[in-house]
Amino acid sequence: MARVTIDSIRKRYGETTAVDGVSLTVDDGEIVGVLGPSGCGKTTTLRAVAGFETPNAGTVAFDDRDVTNVPPENRNVGLVFQEYALFDNMTVRENVAFGLKMRGVGTAERRDRADELLEMLGIGGMAARDPTTLSGGQQQRVGLARALAIEPSVLLLDEPMTGLDAKLKARLRDEVGELLSALDVTGLYVTHDQEEAMLMCDRIAVMNDGRLEQVGTPREVYESPATEFVSEFVSLDAPELPFVQW
Ligand code: ADP
Ligand code: MG
Repeated sequence: MARVTIDSIRKRYGETTAVDGVSLTVDDGEIVGVLGPSGCGKTTTLRAVAGFETPNAGTVAFDDRDVTNVPPENRNVGLVFQEYALFDNMTVRENVAFGLKMRGVGTAERRDRADELLEMLGIGGMAARDPTTLSGGQQQRVGLARALAIEPSVLLLDEPMTGLDAKLKARLRDEVGELLSALDVTGLYVTHDQEEAMLMCDRIAVMNDGRLEQVGTPREVYESPATEFVSEFVSLDAPELPFVQW
């Protein structure tokens, strides 16, 4: 795993400034949530870290390596993006092993690593299945296993729980949260869901209109919001927060 340093990145699409001078560090083994409303620049920020977008200004570094102009396939990032759907012409196990196959890892080792991850995510029995026969929550776990299989330097998740029902979300939040901290993953977790960010992330970066409004622990952001926007956005819809174990 690696430390991620995003330094003053800016990304414009025509007249729109999607990301307007964002600086953020994710320490080795830390999960940082990027939280904000739709259209505030979360996905663009994540895509710049993944290498799908080159910022107009600013840099991205993994540890001391400047990766700003390095293509995605050479960054060793694990991606759980909505558009990264599972391959439906492969079994669950083949999906998880895909990245290892691309790297020339042998069949037996691929199989073992895939099965170990599937087991860890509680879907060990599904290895030989066609992913289209799995539930949304099971597919989401396969996506996570696929992203983790390559032992990524950085794990990038973009609204991975979108489309799942509330009960399943709550369960996955606990399970995946525990798994990510147990695996010591460095990750950026994009969400518009305050509660999800609070419960899953070590720190939260609150974004609004292309800029970061505040970066802090869930407790800091919740108890001492730096701006009016943070105060309104973070308190919204969070009546259950007294149950959070800080
Ligand atoms: P979020 O993920 O927070 O919803 P995005 O990063 O997707 O926000 O988008 C930020 C802004 O940039 C939005 O105004 C969006 O319409 C615009 N945008 C994003 N991607 C593109 C693109 N490829 N072309 C033009 N505009 C884009
Ligand atoms: Mg988005």
